Amino acid sequence: MKSAGLICAPSTGKGKGETVGGIDAAAICRWKREEQLKPRIMRASTRPTNKAEAKNFVGSVMSDPVWAPEGPSRLRASRVTFMPGGRTNWHQHAVGQILYVLSGVGRYQLDGQPVQEIRPGDTVVIPPNARHWHGSAPDTMMCHLAMSETDEKGQATTWLEPVSDADYTKTAAKD
Ligand code: MN
Repeated sequence: MKSAGLICAPSTGKGKGETVGGIDAAAICRWKREEQLKPRIMRASTRPTNKAEAKNFVGSVMSDPVWAPEGPSRLRASRVTFMPGGRTNWHQHAVGQILYVLSGVGRYQLDGQPVQEIRPGDTVVIPPNARHWHGSAPDTMMCHLAMSETDEKGQATTWLEPVSDADYTKTAAKD
């Protein structure tokens, strides 16, 4: 079935009433969506925990996959566990990032601002292309859910230099 060029974006009203090869465009869009996001439960037992890439992190950091971009979704979500002292390098996200702290006590810093303590239940909102880092507290582990999207070019995270011990050990603000 030919459906090339059809824009499947029902929320914008595009394609409404349109037909492709005599078939209702809305139905084609529905099938395309079903192909793209097949309903399933992705079982924990089939997805091993990964060690975070040493070139982008300091210390011991483990990552459990939650979701990787799969059209039409551009979302990536990971549950990341930082052992005490563990943190990301400085980095930035093309479409920003949302962090949700699940356990422990953590640290977060937006470039040019004080280091912040982050705790379970906190949601951290990081704007597009803002230089920042996140990780555990020096003596306490931290686990967060990290959520970000790719931009229209497929770009997501740009990794930069490690966070120095001097920056990491600065006293963290608590509010
Ligand atoms: Mn980040």
